[in-house]
Amino acid sequence: MPELGGLAASAAGNCDMDYQQFFSDRIADLKAEGRYRVFADLERQAGHFPRAVRHSERGAGSVTVWCSNDYLGMGQHDVVRSAMRKAIDEVGAGAGGTRNISGTTHSHVLLEQELADLHEREAALLFTSGYVANEATLSTIGRYLPGCILLSDEANHASMIAGVRHAMTEKRIFRHNDPADLEQKLRAADPARPKVIVFESVYSMDGDIAPIEAFCDLAERYGAMTYLDEVHAVGMYGPRGAGVAARDGAMDRITIVQGTLAKAFGVVGGYIAGSASAVDFVRSYAPGFIFTTALPPAVAAGALASVRHLKSSDVERRLHQDRVAALKQALAESGLPVMPSASHIVPVLVGDPVICKRATDLLLDRYKIYVQPINYPTVARGSERLRLTPTPLHTDADIADLVSALEAVWKELSISVAC
Ligand SMILES: *Cc1c(COP(=O)(O)O)cnc(C)c1O
Repeated sequence: MPELGGLAASAAGNCDMDYQQFFSDRIADLKAEGRYRVFADLERQAGHFPRAVRHSERGAGSVTVWCSNDYLGMGQHDVVRSAMRKAIDEVGAGAGGTRNISGTTHSHVLLEQELADLHEREAALLFTSGYVANEATLSTIGRYLPGCILLSDEANHASMIAGVRHAMTEKRIFRHNDPADLEQKLRAADPARPKVIVFESVYSMDGDIAPIEAFCDLAERYGAMTYLDEVHAVGMYGPRGAGVAARDGAMDRITIVQGTLAKAFGVVGGYIAGSASAVDFVRSYAPGFIFTTALPPAVAAGALASVRHLKSSDVERRLHQDRVAALKQALAESGLPVMPSASHIVPVLVGDPVICKRATDLLLDRYKIYVQPINYPTVARGSERLRLTPTPLHTDADIADLVSALEAVWKELSISVAC
């Protein structure tokens, strides 16, 4: 009997798989583990962030959002909304094509220039999303550089893992934020082969920050390129919002920087910035860039307004850090198991997927506080958590409400406070 990918074939040689049964069994697995994902049905309300309306079987009601990646509230900012409205009225909804075939509008060109300037690079390139930017760029560079070795931090985002895998070349995974382990892997590799060190600045679930300078030193010593994902830093760190490398004076040591327009910039889309030749190479060879319709021009116009605003305005960044410090302090004073974080991301440990989900259900239903549970595979099993993201628009009263609700939920569910 022929083997069909490990599945038994019927006597006639045809596959007798019950497809629908397979799908529902895999969903049952997730439910049994307590990590089946339920989306909150939200209606954001421009001008009222972090408040939103949540729809459920029991009707619609207001909630306070504590887990948005619209870190600075730019998704509802006047300059962004009016830029998008104006663009829709002037040029319409869609781009009308791929970038190569009629889809490059003037807003795309201006936005790429603005992003190149933000990162002090010769060029930048837009993608559908930050995910696609990582997947397309890493897979293309890794595939074409002859004999390339990709050295990737073990905690890298799924989009970078996808890019590394799709490069179909050799990869070495180094211990998270560990220059000694990275150096060992660089030393063990053939010195003549091209290498790319692939890492993030702010890691989105723990909120820790990479040793960027140490990684750049190693890149120089071993002749490697650096590829840095600044998705959770652009808009928020550095004097103009260019990210952590800019804040630390290391921006010119990064070969390719990658970012998103969907988080602190509040819109959608991803990008890379680098030398003119590196960006032109990706533009010319990456299927994930070439074979898809360009972002709507209004999206590019909104992102352009957001990037420009945050380049010159520091108010949002300062207020953001102030709110982050206030929340961290309030949590620490309450004795809740807030995990140490060097950034604006504030994780609170639960350590069990079922309890994590129950805690967030209680927060939502009883206290009108929305925090999505973070379970495996987004984080390791046993480190299930709430991931809180304060914004400039969360008030002292919002923080006090959150902390007292968390205290009540922790007590009710008897969650351990040891961190
Ligand atoms: C969110 C995220 C991405 C993907 O960005 P999108 O614009 O949302 O697709 C990439 N890298 C990291 C580290 C992320 O957290």
